[in-house]
Parts: sequence; structure tokens; C-alpha cells
Amino acid sequence: MDIFGYMEKYGYEQLCFFHDKSTGLKAITAIHNTVLGPALGGSRFWNYDNEDQAIEDALRLARGMTYKSALAGLPLGGGKTVIYGDASALRKDPIKREAFWRAFGRYLEGLNGRYITAEDVNTSTQDMVYVNMETDNVVGLPGRSGDPSPYTARGVYNSVLACLKHVYGDKSPAGKVVAVQGLGNVGYYLCKYLNEAGAKLIVTDIKQESIDRVVKEFGATAVAPDDIYSVECDVYAPCALGATVNDVTIPLFKCKIVCGGANNVLKDAPVHGQALQDRGIVYAPDYLANAGGVINVCYELAEGGYSEEAALRDIDRIYVRMKEILTIAKETGRLTYQVADELAEKRIEAVRNIKSIYTHK
Ligand code: NAD
Repeated sequence: MDIFGYMEKYGYEQLCFFHDKSTGLKAITAIHNTVLGPALGGSRFWNYDNEDQAIEDALRLARGMTYKSALAGLPLGGGKTVIYGDASALRKDPIKREAFWRAFGRYLEGLNGRYITAEDVNTSTQDMVYVNMETDNVVGLPGRSGDPSPYTARGVYNSVLACLKHVYGDKSPAGKVVAVQGLGNVGYYLCKYLNEAGAKLIVTDIKQESIDRVVKEFGATAVAPDDIYSVECDVYAPCALGATVNDVTIPLFKCKIVCGGANNVLKDAPVHGQALQDRGIVYAPDYLANAGGVINVCYELAEGGYSEEAALRDIDRIYVRMKEILTIAKETGRLTYQVADELAEKRIEAVRNIKSIYTHK
């Protein structure tokens, strides 16, 4: 991989490799952009096939966090850590596990606040407690902002409302049909919000117990995983995997809106964003729709400590931001994800410009 070429092309600031021989820690932290504030992004534990894959994932995910935080209006930049190795082996050895995460915490401390971490795929809040023994540059700790998923779901719900308003002139989900794919942490809470607001739910998952719970609690109708794309509905809400809007699924859609919690919903953004627009289907940019979790965790960094009330107020503003993007896209004929990217980039550039003003820091 031409690392410097890639960093230059997409404007990365820093790529750090951490290794601790005693615990076997191999961590890669990518810092994409710190113009708006310290780079924040979770630490993901994954047994990649090779180092290049790990580096590429760290870089790609870090850049995604820059855009997400910028568009959400947060005073944060974008970063991400990937821990290269087998997470399950570590879980079996509590003494090594503590040392492993404390080693990582000590390396992060050395970054002097440029990067703040949190839990992510295959890492837990307990791992972050160990990190916190060595550095304050970690969020999502027990007793603070808690599980981000309900907050992510609330942001997705606000985004659905914005899309309904945009398409039907009325934001009420009452009587509207929403097809939810994936009933895990985010999908479940999204169903809860939608059910309370009177929407009809069509749902799917690959886990029967997750389906049974939503059918029982919210009166949802279940369909097989492959059938979710072709159901008659107003909204398709992907809350499981990325890339579910693609050449195969787009011709099947009968929805008017695609808005969910999953990341990277469009398999190939220019191609499939355009294909949705051509079919008259409104696409809610995923990284704004699912920003509720990062907004919530950001409030741990606020002076005076975490306030759920303040976080929720901010998460509910996703409604206004989403509507703004949909309106600009409609008025200018551009794709919604392009408008989202441009607004994020515009904010970063505006703040970058004021940084030429001299201060003592
Ligand atoms: P999760 O693992 O709790 O839930 C995902 C669910 O999708 C599981 O129930 C799983 O069985 C189901 N699933 C997997 N493959 C499926 C398939 N082919 N068809 C139907 N269902 C399938 O994850 P989550 O935390 O709810 O996150 C959901 C998505 O939202 C992920 O893409 C995640 O990256 C994204 N996201 C989550 C958060 C958060 O706060 N949790 C924040 C931002 C983005």
C-alpha cells in the first residue's frame, strides 16, 4: 500500500503504530483531521488477513468519523483505532487483558489529547475502563453516557421524520409503513420509537429471538431476510449491514425513502446514490442519520460532565440538519450524500481559515 500517497490524497494528518511485546498489543491509530477538535473514534478489534487490510480500515474509518462529527456540528475531528489480532484469545485471560488495554492507554496518553477513543466492534466498556486507568482520552465509560445505541436510534428516528416531512409534507409516522432490517441494538430502539408514534413495522433479522421480541412488543410483521427489499413500504431502514443499496436491491425497492442506522449504506455512493434519485427515492445520508451515538458520547467531554438532557436536545437537531440537506439537494439537483459531504467540508474549511489568527496556544 502506498501509505503516504493515500494520506496525501485524502488529507490524513497522522498514522500511529503501537506495539507492546509483553502483551502482544498491535494497534494502529489513524488521525484524519483535527481542525474542529481532537479526533474521536472507537477502537475496533479485528483479526485482519494482513497488515495492509488493517491500515486501510483504520484510515477509511477515521475519515468517516471526520465527516460524521463535522456534519453533526461537534467540536471533534475524526480518528479510529484498529487493534490487529484475535479478541477472543484475550477475553480468556483477565490478567493479560488488563495489561493489554492499559498498554494501549499509555500509548494514547502519549498522543497528548489529539485522539480520543471509545469502544467499538469486539471491544467493551470494561476494556475502556482499563484504558482509562492510564489516560483520560477515552469516552463511553460505565456510569457516564452509557450504551450509544438508543441515542443512535433516536437520531435515525429524527431522520425518518425529516424524510417523511420532505416527501409527504407531514412528519408524522402514524400509519406509515417502515421496513426495518436488523433488530439489534439500533434496530430495536428504532422500532420502539416508530411503534410509539403509530407506524406499522415490517421487520427482519437473521436471529429468530430478535424478530420474536419485536413482533411481540410492537406488533411488527416479520419477513424473511431477502424479502425486506421488496416489501411495500414508505421507508426502508437498514440497521444491520452496509452496502445493502446496490444493483441487486434497487430494482426491488417499493419504498419512497431509505433511512437507517447502518454505515456505508450505498455500495458505491456515486452510482447507487444516483440510481436512488433516478427512481425518486430519497436517501438520508447515513452518517448524519446515525450520528446520535457520537453526539451523545461527545457530551462526556463537556465542561461540567455528561448531561443527557443536553445530548438529547442536540440529537433531536438532526431533524433540522437532515431537512436542510434534503432541501438543498432538491433545489440544486445534487445527490443528498454529496450535499452532506460538501457541508461537512465547508465547516472544516471555515474553521481551518480562522486558525491562522494568532493565539498564545
Ligand atoms: P447489532 O449487531 O446489535 O445489530 C445488527 C443486527 O442485524 C443483528 O441483530 C443481526 O442479527 C442483524 N443482521 C445481520 N445480518 C443480517 C441480515 N443479512 N439480514 C437481517 N438482519 C441481519 O448492531 P447495532 O449496534 O444495532 O448496529 C447496527 C448498524 O448500525 C451497524 O451497521 C452499525 O455499524 C451501525 N451503527 C451503530 C451505532 C450504535 O450506536 N450501535 C452507531 C452508528 C452506526
